[in-house]
Amino acid sequence: MLGLMMDRQLTLATLARHAERNHARREVVSVTADHDRHRYTFAEALSRARRLSNVLTRLGAADDARIATMAWNDFRHLELYFGVSCSGRVLHTINPRLFAEQLSYIVNHADDEWIFFDIAFTAILEKIAPLCPRVKGYVAMTSQAHMPAHCTLPNLHCYETLLAHESDQCEWPEFDERRASSLCYTSGTTGHPKGVLYSHRSTVLHSYALALPDSANLSALDGILPVVPMFHVNAWGYPYAGMMVGAKLVFPGHRLSSPELLVDLISEEGVTIAGGVPTVWLPLLDYLRSSGRSIAPLNRTVIGGSACPLAMIEEFRDKHGVAVLHGWGMTEMSPVGVVNSPTSANICLTGEALAAQVVKQGRALPGVELKITDDDNRELPWDGESFGALKVRGPWICSEYYRLDGVSQAHGADGWFDTGDVATIDADGYVKITDRAKDVIKSGGEWISSLDLENVAMSHPAVRECAVVGMGHGKWQERPLLVVVAAQAIDKAELLNWFEGKVAKWWIPNDVLEVESLPHTATGKISKLELRRQLSAYRFPDDQA
Ligand code: AMP
Repeated sequence: MLGLMMDRQLTLATLARHAERNHARREVVSVTADHDRHRYTFAEALSRARRLSNVLTRLGAADDARIATMAWNDFRHLELYFGVSCSGRVLHTINPRLFAEQLSYIVNHADDEWIFFDIAFTAILEKIAPLCPRVKGYVAMTSQAHMPAHCTLPNLHCYETLLAHESDQCEWPEFDERRASSLCYTSGTTGHPKGVLYSHRSTVLHSYALALPDSANLSALDGILPVVPMFHVNAWGYPYAGMMVGAKLVFPGHRLSSPELLVDLISEEGVTIAGGVPTVWLPLLDYLRSSGRSIAPLNRTVIGGSACPLAMIEEFRDKHGVAVLHGWGMTEMSPVGVVNSPTSANICLTGEALAAQVVKQGRALPGVELKITDDDNRELPWDGESFGALKVRGPWICSEYYRLDGVSQAHGADGWFDTGDVATIDADGYVKITDRAKDVIKSGGEWISSLDLENVAMSHPAVRECAVVGMGHGKWQERPLLVVVAAQAIDKAELLNWFEGKVAKWWIPNDVLEVESLPHTATGKISKLELRRQLSAYRFPDDQA
């Protein structure tokens, strides 16, 4: 027997209509290349999103066209988030930090019809445009006065001029909630980038889950600052969830790596929650230390994308009264899978027990199912000790890659997705990522967690940033090498001593290597693949082989 409830489809238009009726006067504040501090209301944002849908129709974009963006976090990008998807088309957010060959590959693979771009990316697009002959035209996301001069892009339009000539009268169509809403390519380390095609249903359900109290706990009283780029997994879903709950949305535009601007925005715009990868918070904490400024309205920050070091969690908490919500997920998971929020059993922990608890990545959001398995795909217990391949399934987890050539190893026939991460899960369901499967260090047949070692190193005051990689060793197969960007003079022996008593003795790295900087991926994570390539000639001093 089926239930007798209305079969209303979970589409982004339902979120948009809700926001427009219930949060019409809520503000969106943005820094852009042509506005120091642009501000308008949700009502204006969604009125312009409807104009944009009409613009796309007038430009002749197909009903299910892929419409690409190459843009920073600002109000125009927000209008595209809703205007493109609510009209039934698919928003393809492109990461401008990818290599030119990857960019032309994904534009052609996605079959993008139109590319909307920030003028800062004009040169990149001019370079790849000849390789993307099926793109019908380009729209510069700016006003007529700021249009790029001598631009060679074919069929170039000005965003503000297009919108100015269009009506905001538009009924967004009703359609199946499983229809695609947006597309994001993973910046895979091997092979071509792979497309993850989100649906309206997955995005709406992910928004609900993100807003839950033990998740990001979003409400109409919040001011949200997504520092994570809008081209990286839909800025972790914050633009959608923020609109849904009526939180103020604050966008740093092209200046997202300026700590001074972030602190200005936090204090002047009443930001209560910010989200980003650990690498964006390092300079912010440096800046707070040197300037003595406060980030008072901020009460929590969501940190994920790579493991958040304990030292960062403690500095936010103890110096600034900001709770770090450590989270884990991936492009294939929309992206959030687990968030570390307390339970009544662990809220009172102190000292080392607290430290061990907060570095865990967290517990599954309702809707996300997890399991860990051994090499024979046998499920392992949730005892906080056994570690294995972390597998997931759920309604906002990708079922297959978009137009993939060949077979994905990650999507098992049993309906589970292998995340490529290795983890433990404890009896309360807290996941602790020990490594990317391909970064695991195997010393004399035993596993060593590079993430645990990095955490210990990051708590040393002389270490600004670090990575631990497994390097070949004649006797032990592999041993850990600690690669460090120093904050102050480093004494190798003293730094290695720092590990004594904090990890098993045989885990302690064999050597410390100081470098000027570490290589990062297009999404701001340390690239261990590139680091290992750079270190290919390295030999451990104690390696006699
Ligand atoms: P991406 O799809 O680019 O967002 O990358 C997803 C991958 O980032 C995951 O599979 C993890 O390896 C890593 N990752 C994300 N969040 C965390 C975290 N909190 N701790 C450790 N690794 C993380």
